Amino acid sequence: MAEAALLDQALREAHLPALIAALAQVTGDPDWLRPEWTPTYVPLSRDDIGISEAEKAKIREKAKAAIEALLGGGEAKASTPEPALLRRLMDFVAGAPIPEGYADFLADELAISGKSSKDPQFEQPRLKEAARRLNVLVIGAGMSGLLTGIRLSQAGVPFQIVDKNPDVGGTWFENTYPGCRVDNANHMYSYSFEPNHLWPQHFSTQPVLLSYFRGIAEKYELRKHIRFETLVESLTWDEGRAVWRAVLKGPEGRTETVEAKAVVSAVGQLNRPRYPDIEGLDTFEGPAFHSAEWRHDVDLTGKRVAVIGTGASAYQFVPEIAPKVAQLKVFQRTPPWGLPVPHYHEDVGEGMKWLLEHVPFYDKWYRFYLFWTTTEGFLPMVKSDPSWNGGPGAVGPENAMLREMAAQAIAAQVADRPDLAEKVIPQYPVGGKRAVLDNGVWLAALKRPNVELITDRIEKVTPHGVVTAEGTEHPADVLIYGTGFQASNFLSFMKVTGRGGLELHEAWGGDARAYLGVTTPGFPNFFMIYGPNTNIVVNGSIIFFSECAVRYIVGCLRLLAETGARAIEVRKDVHDAFNARVDEANQGWAWGSPHVSSWYKNKFGRVSQNWPFGLIDYWRATLAPNPEDYTLERQPEAVA
Ligand code: NAP
Repeated sequence: MAEAALLDQALREAHLPALIAALAQVTGDPDWLRPEWTPTYVPLSRDDIGISEAEKAKIREKAKAAIEALLGGGEAKASTPEPALLRRLMDFVAGAPIPEGYADFLADELAISGKSSKDPQFEQPRLKEAARRLNVLVIGAGMSGLLTGIRLSQAGVPFQIVDKNPDVGGTWFENTYPGCRVDNANHMYSYSFEPNHLWPQHFSTQPVLLSYFRGIAEKYELRKHIRFETLVESLTWDEGRAVWRAVLKGPEGRTETVEAKAVVSAVGQLNRPRYPDIEGLDTFEGPAFHSAEWRHDVDLTGKRVAVIGTGASAYQFVPEIAPKVAQLKVFQRTPPWGLPVPHYHEDVGEGMKWLLEHVPFYDKWYRFYLFWTTTEGFLPMVKSDPSWNGGPGAVGPENAMLREMAAQAIAAQVADRPDLAEKVIPQYPVGGKRAVLDNGVWLAALKRPNVELITDRIEKVTPHGVVTAEGTEHPADVLIYGTGFQASNFLSFMKVTGRGGLELHEAWGGDARAYLGVTTPGFPNFFMIYGPNTNIVVNGSIIFFSECAVRYIVGCLRLLAETGARAIEVRKDVHDAFNARVDEANQGWAWGSPHVSSWYKNKFGRVSQNWPFGLIDYWRATLAPNPEDYTLERQPEAVA
């Protein structure tokens, strides 16, 4: 039978601790959790789990028998483990006891029974009725906007979604540059309630991600709620009626005004290209484009290409275009830190896919393993130690250790090129900027004979190329900007006028802030997902943040429904105190280091993008809104 033939392959490809946990759960056999089978993880190593080959063979033998029994119709004994066993299983897969306080959070994330705190709770008839009277405008049909649509549907809240693009997918629709792929393990970078057992790669490519989100839109019948090619030009709060008036600009430039009781902005942080401020940029005569607006009509074959920027986008497209161009000059201002991930481009084996599909709970335990080891488990490596005096290249002893490991991995790849070695090992701490995943292709591309890494400052762009500070002109036929996004200009494309005529961008003064990234004083019933200070640098998937934020926003809508209030607005003192805590905490991480400049900091040098606490803290803070943090405006008749 085909399944049996796959079993041996599956056992070779399995993440054994996740498989053990799944089988311990379904068989109810405590013998699975042997001390000698408990993993010990080595940072930056997927395959070294601290279990000897002899023991691995025993695990596979026992697993084979258990799976064959299951396939042969054996009963799963314990589908939802008791709390004590659940805790033991979590500790086992994590390889060490999970710190006290994390158990509830991780159990909720694991959602072993299929239920989660993120499911909307609008079960009482009175609330359902009140939910039907709300209506919500969602801006954006990317990962967060689709998620909002799903949750509002489940809560019974009427909504419509608008998106500037002609299709769903947001960043996965817009970024089509060669080599574009997710840099978070895909079995974690997916909605917690929508696992995909068939991800073709551990880090799949953009078309695969786009197809996942298109599939979600179909499955949850979201397309009928979405107006494509529609931009929100302005939002105005009508205080008398407590509604938002939105001016929408649709296809062919038609404008229309719609009203909504609440607005959810799900527009992301990284979708307005940033062009470098370099003299002569507009004078270049050949094709010039940004990575997020890739010109597929420009054939790079045999061309002389100049790339400005070496961030996460360039890191992905440079190795793809290098073999086909005649000459590639890569202009680097600061090198990226690469963390060794040898399987970055690897396919998921058929055996692994089979396990995910057929062994109950294996998918959940595998996701749990990824979640723990790449999120909270990794954070201490980028923590600043106030007493650190080991120089600006690190922020603390663990960060210095990480630096050493990453630097060695880079150095080993350029041992034959000392000229390159001195350019590609960063001086700033790991975690100061977004680290990229290194499977060797980046440095292999830079070592090609037709590729040159240039670190001299760019003086200007001319009609025919790029001139560097010492006066050398580098001729180019095509110029590509891998220069990132206007991340800190939150919501810059629309005018948002709140209570008392207060305009959002004037209120922010270029320094966007929000409470939990979601709400800001003066703007009732206006919510953001992936808003200020909700980005993560090294720890995990932004989908987790969106799921938490949407749960919280649905909680705010529920509060309106429960209390009969018509508007909910965060208290300024609560918002300000929260932001003070955020600012202080951001100093405690590598990305807050004064030695680093990045898109995480705004023009004032404040870290405006990143969440400075653990994932657990965001999970806790967004479980439900605390009514005391808000002013609830009652209906006029209730006031009278
Ligand atoms: P980025 O990380 O902001 O990188 C921009 C690059 O352009 C940097 O190397 C920057 O140098 C350089 N640059 C900017 N202005 C310049 C100038 N005037 N002269 C010379 N160089 C200049 O942008 P990105 O690569 O598009 O990535 C942005 C974010 O998107 C990432 O951090 C990540 O969160 C996300 N992303 C994710 C993936 C993924 O794998 N899923 C892929 C792409 C992007 P400096 O460092 O010196 O400023």
